[in-house]
Amino acid sequence: MRLILIINAGSSSVKCALMTIDAKGLVQECARGQVDGIGREAEFSMRFADGHKDIKEVMPAGVKTSHKEALGLILKAVDNVYGLNALIGAGHRIVHGGPNFVKPTKLDSTSIAELKKLIPLAPLHQPHNLAAVESLRELLPELPQIGCFDTAFHATIPDVARNFALPKALIEKGIKRYGFHGISYNYIAEAFAARDPWRARGRVIVAHLGNGASLCGMINGQSVATTMGFSALDGLMMGTRTGSIDPAVIFYLMREEKMTPDAVEKLLYNQSGLLGVSGLSNDMRTLRKAALNHPDARMALSMFTYRVIREIGSMVAALNGLDALIFTAGIGENDSVLRADVIQGLSHLGLTLDESANNKREHQISASSHPAAFVIPTNEEAMIARATMSLLPDR
Ligand code: ADP
Repeated sequence: MRLILIINAGSSSVKCALMTIDAKGLVQECARGQVDGIGREAEFSMRFADGHKDIKEVMPAGVKTSHKEALGLILKAVDNVYGLNALIGAGHRIVHGGPNFVKPTKLDSTSIAELKKLIPLAPLHQPHNLAAVESLRELLPELPQIGCFDTAFHATIPDVARNFALPKALIEKGIKRYGFHGISYNYIAEAFAARDPWRARGRVIVAHLGNGASLCGMINGQSVATTMGFSALDGLMMGTRTGSIDPAVIFYLMREEKMTPDAVEKLLYNQSGLLGVSGLSNDMRTLRKAALNHPDARMALSMFTYRVIREIGSMVAALNGLDALIFTAGIGENDSVLRADVIQGLSHLGLTLDESANNKREHQISASSHPAAFVIPTNEEAMIARATMSLLPDR
C-alpha cells in the first residue's frame, strides 16, 4: 500500500487524511482524523474507511499537546494500522503562498524559510501550517513533503481585479488581493471540466460556502476574480467573520471605543458574521432550526443570503455574463433553502430553480440550462493528494 498523509494544521487542531491513488489517478480515502485541542489536553480521533477499528484517545489531564505531539499521535496510528513504510509522502494545506508560490512545491529548508517570511500576511494560520511541516521533518526526515497553497489558484487574477486603489509603492510591497480557498476552487474547476467540459470553458462562478465563505469567478477554469482579498476576512459574510466592512468602522472602534488592534481583529474574525448578528450560533443548521422564534437568527440568515446574491451579481458583471453557478462546501452542499433563495434572487439572469433536484441535491439544480446551477462536493484533501503524488520522485 502507498499512502499519502494530508495535513491541515491550525492553531487549535491538526486535521489529517490518508489517501491512496490508483494507476488511473483516482484518489481513495483510507482514513480521516483530527487532533483537537492543541495547547491543551488534546483529543485524537481517527476513522478508517477500510474496516480497521476507529481510534479515540484523550491526553492525560495537564498535558499540553504541541503540534509535534499531535503529529506523533497521527504517525503512531499510521504505524499501528499500515506500518510507517506505507507512507510515501505528505501534502500540507498552507494558507499563503504569497506572490511566488503559485503551484504545489516541495518543502525543504529553502522553501520553508521563504514561506516563513509570509507569516505577517497570514499571522493566524501560516505559523501553525509551518509548525506542522517542521514537526513532521523532525519526526520523519526522509519523508518528502509538499505544500499546496490556498492562494495559488488565484495567481491568474489580472491586476485590475487584484490591486487596491492604493499608492503603487504599497501594492509593490505586496498589499493586494491574494484570494483564498484556492485548493477547493482548483478541485471544483477540475471536477466540473471532467463532467461538463463545454460549460467549464465558459464563465463560471463557484460559491464556496462553509464556515469561511467566498466566491471565485472563473473563465475557462482559471480564476479571474474572487471575493476574499489581502486576507480571508474580505467579501461575503461568514460564520464568525464580518466579510467586507467599511474600513472607517475600524478607526472609529479604535478611537471612540478604545479598542486595540488585537481586539478589533478578534471582533472581526471571531465574534461577527452569523454568530455576531444572531447572538446564537455560527452554524446554519442551528440558525435554521431557531429562525421561526428568533428574529436575530432570521436577520443573520437574511443578511448571509443577501450578501451572497449581491456579490454574485457583482461578479457576473466582472465576468460579463454567467454560464454556470456552482455551490460547494458545508453550507453550499447541504443547505437547500440557501441555494433556492440565491437562485430565486438571481432570476433576472434567467436562472430558475428545479425544486425537486435541489431538495434531492442532484448535480444540476436549475431548471434553466443557460445559465445553469450545480452542486459539486469539494474535496480539498483529494486535490492535495493528487498534487503531492505528482511531485513525488518515484511515482
Ligand atoms: P470549514 O470552512 O470549516 O471547512 P465546512 O465547509 O465544513 O467549513 O462548513 C461548515 C458549515 O457548514 C457549518 O458551520 C454549517 O454552518 C454548515 N452546514 C453543515 N451541514 C449543514 C446542513 N446539513 N445544513 C446547513 N448547513 C450545514
